[in-house]
Amino acid sequence: MGKILGIIGGGQLGMMLTESAKKMPEHISKIIVLDPTENCPAAQVGAEQIVADFKDEKAIQELAEKSDIITYEIESGDSDVLKSVESKAEINPSPETLKMIQDKFLQKTFLSENKIPTPEFIKIGSLDDLQQGLKKFGYPSLLKARRDAYDGRGNFKVDSPEDNQKAFDYFKGQNIMLEKFVPFKMEVSVIAARNTKGQIKTYPLVENIHEHNILRETIAPARVSKEISDKAEEIAKDVMTVLKGAGVFGIEMFVTTDDQIVINEIAPRVHNSGHHTLQSSETSQFEQHIRAILGLELGSVKLLHTTIMYNILGSKDFQGEYHPLEISEKNVFLKMYGKKISKPLRKLGHLNLVANQEESIENLIQKLTGLKEKTHILALK
Ligand code: ATP
Ligand code: MG
Repeated sequence: MGKILGIIGGGQLGMMLTESAKKMPEHISKIIVLDPTENCPAAQVGAEQIVADFKDEKAIQELAEKSDIITYEIESGDSDVLKSVESKAEINPSPETLKMIQDKFLQKTFLSENKIPTPEFIKIGSLDDLQQGLKKFGYPSLLKARRDAYDGRGNFKVDSPEDNQKAFDYFKGQNIMLEKFVPFKMEVSVIAARNTKGQIKTYPLVENIHEHNILRETIAPARVSKEISDKAEEIAKDVMTVLKGAGVFGIEMFVTTDDQIVINEIAPRVHNSGHHTLQSSETSQFEQHIRAILGLELGSVKLLHTTIMYNILGSKDFQGEYHPLEISEKNVFLKMYGKKISKPLRKLGHLNLVANQEESIENLIQKLTGLKEKTHILALK
């Protein structure tokens, strides 16, 4: 008999997890998501939904009572509440792992204690700490909120001493840390999986291009030397070895100007930079996550086709209902998330552009330029 899977969050990640789980009826008999938006993306593809806030304690208890196993698509959940329902349902990744990862300072402390390379960082409690820190790291440096940051909104780049006070005031009431600025030539990531039995697999390194602090494009594989991709994969394996948690993790890294790899941060969940795996790889990151939390043998992470993933974002100047997109071209896989309303830069869907045999990345990039025209989000008249 299959298990009942509970997912906290029913946005696009919950949706694609649901779709994968539905293809494994011998292992998963039902999917229930907890999400505040009525008829959320996951509910549209067959998940049952509890409509409630992600942090609603009663709703989390209800989810735990109804589920055999719980996972999440967001990292902002309340780890203490999750911990308290562990007797009702198995939770993966574990609430302890979540608690450590969702605080960037605890996460980087954990990584550096385990000799895994990160940018230099310190905890900041006062303006004086900040001044001391900047003396050590120099300008620019990044002041970061320790928790609940996304799309770069929790970061303040301190460019010169005149910025110190302003940067410090920007984070009033929040716990913060200072990080040395890493001169990088590329942002990359590894999607890594560890199952409940300790088996570990890492997908090949991919290259990430951001716009307005939001991921815009992922190129799989990353355009780096074999030495660099081997090094990144090695580091990702080290991370998975020391992390006690089962599931898929997105490990974001920088390739520095002198070809070192340092970790920016880890997401304890399936990751936007792994969406290419839906078409490029033998096993998608979504199926892999389910395999990992169920303790099944992990699937092959082989990259079968060079692929570029392009995020479809809401237009900057518009909020409201929008024209459905249609693209029917060979080797282009459009995935819309069923969100009714577009908002500025909201993630509404993505497309995967898959290479033909022997087709170069440069050629794919060229093709993508033409495709981008067809993905503009326009108001529904
Ligand atoms: P996201 O939601 O994209 O994960 P976030 O709000 O958690 O973003 P970070 O991942 O800390 O923010 O940083 C966002 C971006 O800022 C990074 O992708 C990178 O481009 C830049 N950045 C962060 N830390 C550093 C650093 N130490 N040195 C140089 N650039 C950095
Ligand atoms: Mg980040």
